[in-house]
Amino acid sequence: MQAKLDTLNSKLKDIQNINHAAAVLGWDQQTYMPPGGAAARAEQLSTLSKISHEMFTAAEIGELLADLAQAEFDYDSDEASLIRVIQRDYDKARKLPPKLVEEMSRTFSMGQQVWTKARAEKDFSQFQDILAKIVDLNIQVAEAYGYEESIYDALLDQYEPDMKASDVQQVFDELKAELVPLVQAIAEHQEVVNDFVLQQEFDEQTQWDFGLLPLQAIGFDMQRGRQDKSAHPFTTSFSTNDVRITTRVHREMIASALFGTLHEGGHALYEQNSDPTLEGTPLAGGTSLGVHESQSRLWENVVGRSREFWQFYYPKLQEFFPKQFGAVDREVFYRAINKSKPSLIRVEADEVTYNLHIFLRFELEQALLTNSLKVADLPEAWNAKMESYLGLTPPDDAKGVLQDIHWSGGMMGYFPTYTLGNILSLQFYSQTLKDLPDLPEQFAKGEFGALLEWFREHIHRHGRKFTANELIQRVTGDDGIKAGPYLNYIKRKYSEIYELA
Ligand code: ZN
Repeated sequence: MQAKLDTLNSKLKDIQNINHAAAVLGWDQQTYMPPGGAAARAEQLSTLSKISHEMFTAAEIGELLADLAQAEFDYDSDEASLIRVIQRDYDKARKLPPKLVEEMSRTFSMGQQVWTKARAEKDFSQFQDILAKIVDLNIQVAEAYGYEESIYDALLDQYEPDMKASDVQQVFDELKAELVPLVQAIAEHQEVVNDFVLQQEFDEQTQWDFGLLPLQAIGFDMQRGRQDKSAHPFTTSFSTNDVRITTRVHREMIASALFGTLHEGGHALYEQNSDPTLEGTPLAGGTSLGVHESQSRLWENVVGRSREFWQFYYPKLQEFFPKQFGAVDREVFYRAINKSKPSLIRVEADEVTYNLHIFLRFELEQALLTNSLKVADLPEAWNAKMESYLGLTPPDDAKGVLQDIHWSGGMMGYFPTYTLGNILSLQFYSQTLKDLPDLPEQFAKGEFGALLEWFREHIHRHGRKFTANELIQRVTGDDGIKAGPYLNYIKRKYSEIYELA
């Protein structure tokens, strides 16, 4: 058995190396590559993904897995987890014809380039044809994977295994019932909070320098990672010892870099803290996108937008920006960074309205995939839903239907994981507070080690060994995702800030 396991590990290692090499090219594509490199890069990525797919779906991998299924490893062991997780990946990968995989890679890579230009020129019509092709490829993928209830399930399963569209719908309905009235109540108390202090100019290099302080304080290891700039912030890793994050810095939007850095930092902590025994194996990294997002939202919002966090960092921020903040009271700043108001752009949205942006995307994706909405009619449908959920109409496509990178990169079924992450961040954190009730006082002293250690112990070190549902069960005792802790947190925090009765 050991010999077979060694053979499997060695094959998986080669495949991981190819995937990580492709990830380096993908990182470069979004950070430093000149626009002229787009076509060649799409070909390079397509070739690598073809090679990786061929190697992974080889019959020999299936035979090794079948033999190893007989082995009696303890469920929690790295060995049993590897066999379990890889069997699942293998079964899925075998369902995709190599020709389709290659076409997806090429189309999705080109899609991003077309989208970048269309967005810059605020013109959906430039993106329409390739988006139609992307929707069609996603339908082909879903049909190849197969599904029981809805075509959406097959795509969602790539990002949030074991979750169905109907599960998402149920938890979203629960959220909607509470959040929509809360948004209305806040709208009637808008005068309580203003964010004028954030509407100033902030030197970009100073923003960057300040952001590095909390990033390193929360535990991002600069010897095993780095931060760069990109149009759309993201995290990627080539090893647990080489985790890359990006941020964007706008002169007139200090919140973007401040919280974007903490957000990606949260993703990076998850990636950097897989158990060292998982390094180089397909078990390193995060288990599902919802769990991944729970980590970024935890550091960005639960920690980064808390009073205690700024009790420690606000005096430092004042030192970096004496002209802008020197005479501004800390409480005014705290309320400003938590101002809730319907807005056009998802990534700039506050904690209360953020999820409404996701409901909209979830509904539109389902309509596209079931052909009840044509791609040509998407901008109109987008604007109508923006009006009904947020009371706003985008002035142009860039601030509307073209704002997110996901569809251009082929990712459909991905958006719900953002809201699932918001919910999970509090489902986990409410448990953390039971174990460590004085955490907020630690934040006020700039200490984050105990929080990181708790998550490392309960979640990070396991990498992909357990599914999201297994982790939820192990960490909280709950059977599955529960919206309660998140809704309590949001209602308590915003009722206090907006002085709602
Ligand atoms: Zn994220």
